[in-house]
Amino acid sequence: MEKRIVTFRNVSFRYRESLPWVLNNVSFSINADEWVAIIGHNGSGKSTIAKLMNGLLTPQEGEILVNGTPVTPETIWEIRKNIGMVFQNPDNQFVGTTVQDDVAFGLENRGFPRKEMVKRIKQTLLQVGMEAYTLHEPHRLSGGQKQRVAIAGVLAIAPQVIILDEATAMLDPRGRLEIMETMHHVKEQHNVSFIMITHDLKEVVRADRVIVMSEGKVVEIAPPRDIFAKKEKLQQSGLDIPFVAKLVDELTKLGTKLSKEPLNHDELLEELW
Ligand code: ADP
Repeated sequence: MEKRIVTFRNVSFRYRESLPWVLNNVSFSINADEWVAIIGHNGSGKSTIAKLMNGLLTPQEGEILVNGTPVTPETIWEIRKNIGMVFQNPDNQFVGTTVQDDVAFGLENRGFPRKEMVKRIKQTLLQVGMEAYTLHEPHRLSGGQKQRVAIAGVLAIAPQVIILDEATAMLDPRGRLEIMETMHHVKEQHNVSFIMITHDLKEVVRADRVIVMSEGKVVEIAPPRDIFAKKEKLQQSGLDIPFVAKLVDELTKLGTKLSKEPLNHDELLEELW
């Protein structure tokens, strides 16, 4: 059986008793080494899920397990060693005056010996393709580069799960592509699960599975190709179908042959990427 790294079991959450439920009976699990995208329109509850996983919030109902351990105030510090977070605003995550200082921060906090720190900084900057920027000032980097340094920072502490909470939302298309490629590259070399929270359907293409959220509920869990095949459901959930997917759909309806062989969903996904 696959090893489950994160489990949500019938989780319901509201920010205050006087406020409506933000998550409603949410259940899913994420396997070790899996890349899962959590997608939904603004306000559907995605960030709340990230905060619950990280123990920043506690559900009123249900249970959350990380690596088999229930997330509670007693276990949270241990659990956080296994979870790395990359946030939306690249400028809010820097603490170091150089790229290498920044990656060093998490390691210093955890008391890593100097030699091991140097090794990990070098390794992780190489993995995210930022080895040439070791002594650069973080604020001079592009958005995509900044987020790659942020990914190096969490990779350095070797967590089992990395959550990217709208980590590409403030980036231009090139920066987004950089992040997707970096994740792909990291995945090839590391045993790590990625949980990518996004409202952009284009970004779910490389995921193993996609969790679609709508108004605090899980409406679908499936591989990307099955998700793209359910256009009506996506539209009902307030998600924008990527332009290329719409175009292919319309042209196919009109009987246009788009390539020598009919374009299947896998090829469509490659096109989107
Ligand atoms: P998403 O990440 O999908 O945009 P969120 O998890 O941020 O959604 O928000 C889900 C719902 O919870 C929204 O209706 C939002 O307004 C509400 N919400 C988020 N944070 C708070 C908070 N600190 N206090 C009260 N309501 C909140």
